[in-house]
Amino acid sequence: MKIIDGKAVAADIRAQLKDRIGRSGKEVGLAVVMVGDNPASRVYVRNKEKACRETGILSRTYELPEGVSQPELEALIVSLAADERVHGILLQLPLPEGLDAGSALAKIPPSKDVDGFSAENLGKLVRGERALVACTPLGVMKLLESAGISPAGKRAVVLGRSETVGKPLALLFLNADATVTVCHSRTENLKEICREADILVSAVGKPGFVTEDMVKEGAVVIDVGINRGADGKLCGDVDFERVAPRTSYITPVPGGVGPMTVAMLLCNTAAAAMEE
Ligand code: NAP
Repeated sequence: MKIIDGKAVAADIRAQLKDRIGRSGKEVGLAVVMVGDNPASRVYVRNKEKACRETGILSRTYELPEGVSQPELEALIVSLAADERVHGILLQLPLPEGLDAGSALAKIPPSKDVDGFSAENLGKLVRGERALVACTPLGVMKLLESAGISPAGKRAVVLGRSETVGKPLALLFLNADATVTVCHSRTENLKEICREADILVSAVGKPGFVTEDMVKEGAVVIDVGINRGADGKLCGDVDFERVAPRTSYITPVPGGVGPMTVAMLLCNTAAAAMEE
């Protein structure tokens, strides 16, 4: 069993990116829009700002008050869309109640949609065309690549069908020639399906969800979940202690997919800047 060190892989990617941005002589800019005072969002945004600084990406955070109106929020996004120093726009979710995230996200032009949430980028992903792809699923694929694991011909099982993780990840696996099954809360015989997986990815959001009896001997297990365990500590969806011995490769939480998500945001921002 090998633990895939997402922190180290992400650090490598950031170093390469810093070098590329430096050599390009381009000023790469990311705008982060945050509404209200969600403590978790604040931590995520700080992490992103720090990673941008370390990589030579100019990040600017726009903090809007909780009571901001939909037109005010959208006017800011429209002005960032027109700003040529801004190559990527990230709207930190969730938004406070009463604001329509879908409508606000639709104001981000697909070329600056570094989260890959737009219909155009998702459509391109379906077609297997070049697109800005959601950061977490992209991070999962890069982690596999870093470990020399090719999904081609393998049976990949994705637990979770969210638009930000499960669905785009299933498409990435399909585009990489894996045979893909997507499971969700209505799936029957979930354990049996999981046991068939050569690569099992969990994006459910429940601690201890993936148990040893769900994992085939020698499978690769990627844990996307970020949860607080009963002890208050950060943990994934996978019962790591029991599952790990059965696997060929496994990712830890923290230090697995999480750091890759931020690294992919930087890569997407640089790609948006280089391709304009
Ligand atoms: P989400 O939108 O809540 O989706 C959860 C998915 O899990 C849904 O598709 C749901 O099925 C499925 N599910 C729930 N209970 C289930 C059950 N008993 N059996 C089978 N499937 C079940 O969550 P998300 O945004 O995709 O995030 C998932 C997890 O990943 C969370 O822990 C989140 O914090 C974490 N995350 C981590 C990163 C990172 O950077 N590492 C990034 C994003 C998210 P239905 O569709 O049927 O409801």
